[in-house]
Amino acid sequence: MTDGSRFVPGAGHPGPPGPDHPALLVAGRKLLLGPDGRLNRIADLPGDHDWVPIGTLDDVPVWAAGRSKAGAGRWVSWRRLAAELPEPLAALAGRALQVVTWRHSHRWCGACRAELADVPGESARRCPDCGLYVPMRLSPAVLVAITRPGAAGRPDELLLVRHSYGPTELWALVAGFVEAGETLEAAVHREVGEEVGLTVDGLTYFGSQPWAMSGPGVLLTGFTATAADPAAEPVVDGRELVQARWFPLDALPAELPPAYSISRWLIDATATGARR
Ligand SMILES: [Zn+2]
Repeated sequence: MTDGSRFVPGAGHPGPPGPDHPALLVAGRKLLLGPDGRLNRIADLPGDHDWVPIGTLDDVPVWAAGRSKAGAGRWVSWRRLAAELPEPLAALAGRALQVVTWRHSHRWCGACRAELADVPGESARRCPDCGLYVPMRLSPAVLVAITRPGAAGRPDELLLVRHSYGPTELWALVAGFVEAGETLEAAVHREVGEEVGLTVDGLTYFGSQPWAMSGPGVLLTGFTATAADPAAEPVVDGRELVQARWFPLDALPAELPPAYSISRWLIDATATGARR
């Protein structure tokens, strides 16, 4: 779902915030929406806020700040916001959450303890004393939709898993964070082996999505693949994953990831592709 507007992430704008510029306040993991459920403007949020630029929405600067006093409106999680507002507003709000959270947790120099300063025009801070440069970093993660051919005359099947944490009723895709020194492709093969004990062939890139749920700065990358051995059954460790099973693509469970997630886009595209 998209509303046709264009968000370009960025870290620099000349001049102060204008009264009509979109603005997001962040408190912990919550974001403030206006009483009408839409984004606030600077003029809607009087008070002393330390506004930082996060990019432009249709060439208009957008601002974010940590909460310094309660504002009128609704405090919502990013999950709720992404379910209610179309893209690119969910991505914009995810970036606001990330920038504010990151600045809050990167206040002091890790080498000499001096207070870091923003680097104008960059998503980065620098130590005025020792020069340490601290860029905002992303955490890449991989997701994979694994299929296998069904029995003779039956539809293909998709592997779905249930986690022991988070929304445990959901049937999700095999997923995990990329390790330092690892390619995205190697991360898929490793996670599939670790989580369900399978090997896969035909790994194909699907797309990506900035994701503000599992901590700020997560970049999800989606892949499709096929089971190397169609007869192999998944084995879970019982700790991170509690269940894994094959579902026929025309009989997927109802408890699937939300419509705004790349997990769901992958599952829907796999099911649609099988029907063609
Ligand atoms: Zn320093």
